[in-house]
Amino acid sequence: MIDEKINRVKEILQTKKKIAIVCHRNPDGDAYGSSLALYHYLKDKHDVTVVSPNDCPNFLKWLPGEKDIVVLEKAEAKATKILEESDVIFTLDFNALHRTGDATEKVLKKIKPTFIMIDHHQQPDDYAQIKFSDTSKSSTCEMVYDFIADLGDSDKVNKEIATCIYTGIMTDTGSFRFPSTTPHTHLIVADLLKKGADNAKIYNNVMDNNSLDRMKLLSKALDNLVLLKELKTAYITLSQKELNDFNFEKGDTEGFVNYALSIKDVVFAVIFIEDKQQGIIKMSFRSKGQFSVNEFARKHFNGGGHTNAAGGRSTKSLDKTVSEFLEVLPNYKTQILNSYEPTF
Ligand code: 5GP
Ligand code: MN
Repeated sequence: MIDEKINRVKEILQTKKKIAIVCHRNPDGDAYGSSLALYHYLKDKHDVTVVSPNDCPNFLKWLPGEKDIVVLEKAEAKATKILEESDVIFTLDFNALHRTGDATEKVLKKIKPTFIMIDHHQQPDDYAQIKFSDTSKSSTCEMVYDFIADLGDSDKVNKEIATCIYTGIMTDTGSFRFPSTTPHTHLIVADLLKKGADNAKIYNNVMDNNSLDRMKLLSKALDNLVLLKELKTAYITLSQKELNDFNFEKGDTEGFVNYALSIKDVVFAVIFIEDKQQGIIKMSFRSKGQFSVNEFARKHFNGGGHTNAAGGRSTKSLDKTVSEFLEVLPNYKTQILNSYEPTF
């Protein structure tokens, strides 16, 4: 099955093509890492551009090739032209076109290139002619590594590609600690280090990049944290005013929800973040064990993702959204408590 798909890709890539690589809106380390890794791999032979719906947080700006990315929100005409003229469009780290946001989705829906999906989220949509979809993989970056290897090109993984792939695996696995991290993941990482990825430097670039404002915002978030002991659930809220008070910049709240999940015995954690500009409350859901936040987010908050990490949104006010959450939460008490595995 994989062989047949790989052969189709080989055939397509045999001659020079116009290729666009598109990632999801609000790109994270895996979205940019996988897109740029594939970009570096393809760019010698093809006319290839990474198109991102919007800009990335500062902690990803150093990635090799980031400056070459065309951001649709900043250069709509240019990005649209690139997408319209592409023979092939790789869609990376998402599996439903709406994940690219309204403006990019509109363009992607009206064009007819060959779409190739590489993604590890659940329940993929059907827009792609060639679909590499595997929810057992830690990250799309891991899949891009396997994709290049399956094409017989492992020897083309250079320092730049290794750096991009390492970044996405590191960020999507919470630095190799989530259950999605497998022996295969570590074997890939070992090879990436051999190929020149500088693990200490990458970690430093991504993680030790805090502004004082971000630290103060984290302090506010922890101050707002509510623990619902009987439901083994913890949640955090951040209003637009609180974000403004600490000069919020894109990416500043990344990982905050994990502090709620790190409380002893908590198996379900949520952060609610007000975004007045978009007129929404953005939610991040995290769980430990079998309780599926993907299903929870899908059912109640117009979202989705993975079993243990998902996102969602609401167009109601912050207070109303939290109330709605608190209303449905008790229905999940049994599932949440069953998800609890005492530490050993
Ligand atoms: P985060 O909470 O970090 O934004 O997202 C966690 C995971 O859920 C990521 O893998 C992300 O791709 C996915 N995700 C976030 N928001 C949404 C959403 O609105 N819809 C879907 N289907 N997935 C989402
Ligand atoms: Mn990912």
